[in-house]
Amino acid sequence: MSSRNELTRYDFTREELGELLVDHPKYRVDQLWKGLYGEGLAIEDISTLPIDLRTDLAALLPPGLHSRIERVSDDGETQKWLWGLTDGDAVETVLMHYPDRSTVCVSSQAGCAMACGFCATGQEGFRRHLTTGEIVEQVIRARTAAAPRRLSNVVFMGMGEPLANYDATWGAVRRIHEDLGLSARHITMSTVGLIPGIRRMAEESLPISLAVSLHAATDELRTELVPINHRYPIADLADACQAYVAASGRRLSFEWALIDGVNDTEEQAIALAELCRELRAHVNLIPLNPTPGYPTIGTPRAGVLQFQKWLTERHTNATIRRNRGTEIDAACGQLRASQSTGQSVATPRRR
Ligand code: SAH
Repeated sequence: MSSRNELTRYDFTREELGELLVDHPKYRVDQLWKGLYGEGLAIEDISTLPIDLRTDLAALLPPGLHSRIERVSDDGETQKWLWGLTDGDAVETVLMHYPDRSTVCVSSQAGCAMACGFCATGQEGFRRHLTTGEIVEQVIRARTAAAPRRLSNVVFMGMGEPLANYDATWGAVRRIHEDLGLSARHITMSTVGLIPGIRRMAEESLPISLAVSLHAATDELRTELVPINHRYPIADLADACQAYVAASGRRLSFEWALIDGVNDTEEQAIALAELCRELRAHVNLIPLNPTPGYPTIGTPRAGVLQFQKWLTERHTNATIRRNRGTEIDAACGQLRASQSTGQSVATPRRR
């Protein structure tokens, strides 16, 4: 649960909104619901509601997000927000348009406790969990911005470790599916590999997509890059992934940020291909984005292509992802990082 006690607009379920409006005609809750969820309006702008009621409701149901910075890339295909939260903290949301879909990347925590050295959010440490409402509101804001294009996909790849904030995150998944109508397979949970969370997901009835941020396929290197690997080593993680794939029927994907001279070797490609073969997983490759506290650079283009070739030679599917929106600081915690001084972290050994 969140350490905060103030709930915001999108933390309230339809039933709870109904309780707030118990003294009003029944259709008021429908109007409020349609305004908030159907049209993504500010309460003040829901013109079907009487003005006094709007004022009262706006005070009772404050927004969770206040725009601090909003940027759009030159080609208009990437949009990024830095939101101020009600307690003064800040998180990022990124909206990305592709020819066939529009995807929002949402944050699940302010900061992160996982301490992956190459990640801008990990470099800052954990501050607090977001509430379900704060996550849902990111989706609503992005959906409004995407119009007339239809927001089709949600990925939990913004700030934070979603499975470390399981209840609020899963609450948001349910709301995104049930109240906003996105299909389960178009919602992707991205995790550093918290086994208890993956096992809980396998028990849920909603089969969403799972992405695991692997980044290394041997325990020694993975523990260096992703410290939680010490607690949840690769073989156990693979078992949990297997259980999720069996329960959900979804294909698993591995995220792999290519770091020059660190995890872009043939040895790693061989170990990764073996893991993918067992789990029938797909790999998403992305050259590491630069972050303030991590001196090593992303693998240059030729090395990325070589790594992909080593995988395809071993019958493993790997897609190369673009670093979207670097010029608007849209990549991986850059917007918030550019607002504060990043701490320095240890450099991994080159190999
Ligand atoms: N905590 C979750 C989700 C947030 S991070 C997770 O670990 O999956 C979303 C993705 O961005 C992860 O795959 C993460 O490893 C990756 N990432 C973090 N910093 C990055 C960087 N500097 N360059 C490229 N990818 C990065």
